[in-house]
Amino acid sequence: MSGRLTVLSGPSGVGKGSVVKVLRQRHPDVWLSTSVTTRSPRPGETDGVEYHFLDQAEFDRMAQAGELLEHDAHMGASYGTPRGPVEEQLAQGVPVLLEIDLMGARQVRAAMPDAQLVFLAPPTFDELARRLVGRGTEDPAKVRVRLDRARIEMAAEDEFDVVVVNDDLEQAADRLVALMGVN
Ligand code: ADP
Ligand code: 5GP
Repeated sequence: MSGRLTVLSGPSGVGKGSVVKVLRQRHPDVWLSTSVTTRSPRPGETDGVEYHFLDQAEFDRMAQAGELLEHDAHMGASYGTPRGPVEEQLAQGVPVLLEIDLMGARQVRAAMPDAQLVFLAPPTFDELARRLVGRGTEDPAKVRVRLDRARIEMAAEDEFDVVVVNDDLEQAADRLVALMGVN
């Protein structure tokens, strides 16, 4: 039996991490891929939990060796999805969730055409800006870069199978759960 792969994408600050957290609390049966990244851990982040934090040389080695299902570089850091664990879970029939950026989502679509691509959209662009500033994890210059990037990413909504608007967090999580077929 083969599980379903769902990709959750959307602009930085839209609430992907928040939605995934709610989903995981309610559905421990969903397997969430842990990405590798070369960015530094934020306060409170733990290696192996939010990400596997590694250096550029190790990241490049994994990419070269074909160990990443997809990868992308932005904001001065590289991010990627380790391929092996995803394939193992899917082979065991476990529903798998990836929370990755737009470029990554496109690569997954090319590599695994059966994957379900879900775009998490903000209610408005102003609300996205409020959330990104409110999160307080980036300085103003980085917030500006992320918002510029978000404008471009928002235009890619149509490439996705489904758009979920993250107005109410619980409702957005419920919709994602329903789309994954795990409720
Ligand atoms: P992402 O993972 O997409 O970058 P986060 O999950 O870190 O986004 O959310 C960005 C900010 O927006 C956080 O401060 C979070 O608490 C807030 N947030 C997320 N979802 C909602 C929502 N539905 N309503 C209001 N605020 C939200
Ligand atoms: P952050 O640095 O805020 O944790 O994440 C920045 C961006 O990287 C987010 O848009 C997030 O979805 C994306 N991202 C996280 N992991 C991966 C990954 O494995 N691959 C790709 N392509 N993007 C990722």
